[in-house]
Amino acid sequence: MLQTGFVPLDVLFERGPVSFAFNFGRYVLAAGLVALVVLLMARSHLAGRRIQSRVATWADRRREVLLSMQAVAVYAVVGVFIFWGVKEGVLQRVNVAYSWPAYLGLAAAMIVAHDAYFYWVHRAMHHPKLFKVFHRAHHRSVTPTPWAAYSFAIPESLVMALFVPLWLLFIPTPGSVILAWLMFQIFRNAMGHAGFELHPRWWLSSALTRWINTTTHHDLHHSGGFNRNYGLYFTWWDKWMGTEHPRYAATFAEVTSRNSDPSPSDPAKAPSLAPSRLA
Ligand SMILES: [Zn+2]
Ligand SMILES: [Zn+2]
Repeated sequence: MLQTGFVPLDVLFERGPVSFAFNFGRYVLAAGLVALVVLLMARSHLAGRRIQSRVATWADRRREVLLSMQAVAVYAVVGVFIFWGVKEGVLQRVNVAYSWPAYLGLAAAMIVAHDAYFYWVHRAMHHPKLFKVFHRAHHRSVTPTPWAAYSFAIPESLVMALFVPLWLLFIPTPGSVILAWLMFQIFRNAMGHAGFELHPRWWLSSALTRWINTTTHHDLHHSGGFNRNYGLYFTWWDKWMGTEHPRYAATFAEVTSRNSDPSPSDPAKAPSLAPSRLA
């Protein structure tokens, strides 16, 4: 093992490759599984659930995967320093044990806190002074695919990765809860970029589910409703802050009511959207 005597570098050399493999593995697993589901849907009677009439190209996918690999490298480095911070006692411990209800409560709290964190940093990155450096790379996906889940420039990747050390500054959290949250996060993220509506037709009609984001919700953010629908898991912050896309419910209803015809039934209503605002 290469040893430089400079502790942060030595920790990075020792832990970095495993950290990269772990983060890249969960990205490939989640994006790959959602991509497989989408492929099967596209060949079935659910083909009409393709949200946009525009189709992502292979060049789009290649860019999304390469940018995601770059983001994963950033997460790997941040992950190593989280490990180091926990070891040095700067961050809270991760080898704590609680009761099962506390595990579930902590995982739920982490998801709710991350949803708030994501909404506000995402909205901030849309500020004209920050957009180009932080968030433009992600919005090159006008018609996102599951591979866009981590398609971020380096500055945005750092902002995204900072949530865990910030959380661990205050709350001792078992490693298993962090792991479960990481898996939940990448799966919901890949689903939000699926390009096909994955949620059932009744989703927005039920009080039990309508506060949970659908694929259409985030797809509208990419396809032209650029200053709308900033939220990641829940619709709460967009509703509270008045940033929900005005045609969200109508578009969801339209997409989920299409038959197997993959082209939108009414082009005037279709959320197909030119990339002009992003150019
Ligand atoms: Zn955005
Ligand atoms: Zn996105």
